Amino acid sequence: MRTNGEYAQHPKGAEAQFAAEDRDELLQYELTARQEELRNRTRELAEEKFRPRALEWERTGEFPWENIQALADAGLIGMSVPVEFGGGGGTWLDAAVILEEISRTCYTTAMAALGELGVQTRALAVYGTEAVKRKYLPLIAEGKLICSVCITEPDTGSDLNALQTTATSSNNSYLISGKKALISRGDVAQLFVVYVRYDGKPGSSGVGAILVERDTPGVSIGEAQPTLGGESLYEITFENCLVPTSNVLVEAGGLTRMLTAFNGQRTLNAAISVGIAQGAQDAAVIYSSHRHQGGRPINEYQGIGWMLADNAIQIEAARLLVRRAAARAGAGFPSRYEAAVAKTLANEMALTVTDNVMQIFGGHGWLQKNSAERYLRWARYGPLGGGTPQVQRNGIARHLLKSAEGML
Ligand SMILES: Cc1cc2nc3c(=O)[nH]c(=O)nc-3n(C[C@H](O)[C@H](O)[C@H](O)COP(=O)(O)OP(=O)(O)OC[C@H]3O[C@@H](n4cnc5c(N)ncnc54)[C@H](O)[C@@H]3O)c2cc1C
Repeated sequence: MRTNGEYAQHPKGAEAQFAAEDRDELLQYELTARQEELRNRTRELAEEKFRPRALEWERTGEFPWENIQALADAGLIGMSVPVEFGGGGGTWLDAAVILEEISRTCYTTAMAALGELGVQTRALAVYGTEAVKRKYLPLIAEGKLICSVCITEPDTGSDLNALQTTATSSNNSYLISGKKALISRGDVAQLFVVYVRYDGKPGSSGVGAILVERDTPGVSIGEAQPTLGGESLYEITFENCLVPTSNVLVEAGGLTRMLTAFNGQRTLNAAISVGIAQGAQDAAVIYSSHRHQGGRPINEYQGIGWMLADNAIQIEAARLLVRRAAARAGAGFPSRYEAAVAKTLANEMALTVTDNVMQIFGGHGWLQKNSAERYLRWARYGPLGGGTPQVQRNGIARHLLKSAEGML
C-alpha cells in the first residue's frame, strides 16, 4: 500500500489514484455478493428460528441441537470444513459474518456453533492426518459432531506455559492424565482437542495438542456449572486415557502453532462481540423511537441520540478490525497482532455499547422481557474467553516493541 504522501503527488489527485490502484486491497474488507447472500441467509434463519427462543435456551441450559441442525441444513455449520470433506470451504471472513449474525439474536447458539465454525475445525483441517480429517470433518459439516477445545485447567488459565495435563508415551500410544476447567459444551462434545504437556518436558517446549474421544475409558465429565450467559461450563477429567499416537494433532514444541491457530478463535470471539453490540443497538434504535417522554421520542434528546451515534461509531470500527483480521488470514490463520487488536476493541466496545443500550431503555431495560438485559450479560463473555484484553495488550505491546527493535 502506498503512503498518503505518494498519492498526494499523483497528478490525478490522491483519491482517483487510490481508487484505481488499491481497489482490491480495499475490497477485501467489503463483503462480496456471495458473502452478502451468506449474511442474509444467516440473518433470516436467526430472526425466524433463533431469536424467539434465545432466552429459553438460557433458562433450560439445554444445548440447542435443533439450531445446530438448522445451521447444518442451511450449509452454514460446515462453512469452515474443506469442500472435499463435505463442507463449504469458506474463509475466516465467512465464519465471522455467520457468527456476527447469529450472536445478534442468540448468544447460546453462537457459542454452540463457535468451535465448529472456528478453531477446532480449522485445526483438524490444517494439522490433522488424512485419517483424522476423513473421520471427523464430514460429521462436523453435517452438524453431528461437537468438538470441544480443552486448554484451561483449574490452576492454569492465561499462562499456557504452565499446563499440567500430561501425555506420556507408551508403545505407539499416549496416556493422558489431568483436569480441564471452564470447558464449553462438555456435555455434548464427542471429541476433545486436549492441550497437553508431552512426556514431562518443561515450559512451552513440552506443550502440544492431542485428540481424545469422549467414550475413551478414563474420561469423566463434571457437573454442569451454570453461568451468567446461560450456557453451562464443565470440568473434564482425563485419567490414564489411552489414545493412539495417530491422535497427536500438534507435537511437543508446537505451542506457537497452536496459538497461531487460536488467533482465528480470537477473531471469531470478536465477531461475536460485534454481533451482540449490533443486536443491542438495533433494539435501542427501535425502543428510543417508540418511547415518548416530554411529548417526543426520547431519541430526539441529544443525550440519547449521541449515545446511539457513539454506539454506531464504535460498532463500525470494531467490525472493520474483525474483517481486516479475518480477510487477511487467507488460507492460514489471522495474525497475532491483528486478531489481538480486533478482539480487544470489539470486546470492550460491546461492554460500552450494551451498557449505553441499558441506559437508553431506562428501568424497563432491567426487565428480562426487554432485550437490553440479555445483551449486557452476553457482552461480558468476550473479555473473559479466548484470551483476556490484558493478555491481548501484552501481545500487542510485545509486537510493537519487537517492531521497534533496531530503531531505538
Ligand atoms: C464462557 C466461557 C467459555 C469458555 N470456554 C472454554 C473452553 O471451551 N475451553 C477452554 O479451554 N477454556 C474455556 N474458557 C476459559 C477461558 O479461556 C479462560 O477463562 C481464560 O483463558 C482466562 O483464564 P482464567 O479464567 O484462568 O483467568 P486467569 O488467567 O487466572 O486471569 C485472571 C485475571 O488476571 C489477568 N491476567 C492473567 N495473566 C495476566 C498477565 N500476564 N498480564 C496481565 N493480566 C493477566 C487476566 O486478564 C484476568 O483478568 C471459557 C471461559 C468462558 C468465560
